[in-house]
Amino acid sequence: MWSAEFFTLEEMTRSDTARARGIDNVPKGQLLTRLNATAKRMDSVRLYLGHPVIVTSGYRSAALNHAVGGASSSHHVQAYAVDFRCPAFGDPVRICSALRDSGIRYDQLIQEFNQWVHISFAPTLRQQTLTAFKQDGKHGGRTVYRAGLG
Ligand SMILES: [Zn+2]
Repeated sequence: MWSAEFFTLEEMTRSDTARARGIDNVPKGQLLTRLNATAKRMDSVRLYLGHPVIVTSGYRSAALNHAVGGASSSHHVQAYAVDFRCPAFGDPVRICSALRDSGIRYDQLIQEFNQWVHISFAPTLRQQTLTAFKQDGKHGGRTVYRAGLG
């Protein structure tokens, strides 16, 4: 059933937290179909970048998302979003810059903390490009988003 050139179901659902806590993180039914569509979109990303893509977080069940402190509206829970790195291509800023100009359709492309790239293929396909960073100070640790890269 699963069909994607570069991404297995295992890669798209793997989570150390889920494994450690015994959380079921394999989607079923419509969510599984959607995750497969997301993996195929990631094939386009992989082909465009021309280097191996390492998925750091794909699908997150509601229980896993809660365990990792993700937003309840997260596109990861809806099987639309993937966090990844592609070190042979470059750092997250370079990857986002390239994908923004690639012609690949996405909803959100977020450069997160200079650590990884978050890409979402939710059907609104807004082509929104953001940078996420941690705000220091008394509310330290809060994630803030700003438009654009850099
Ligand atoms: Zn993400």
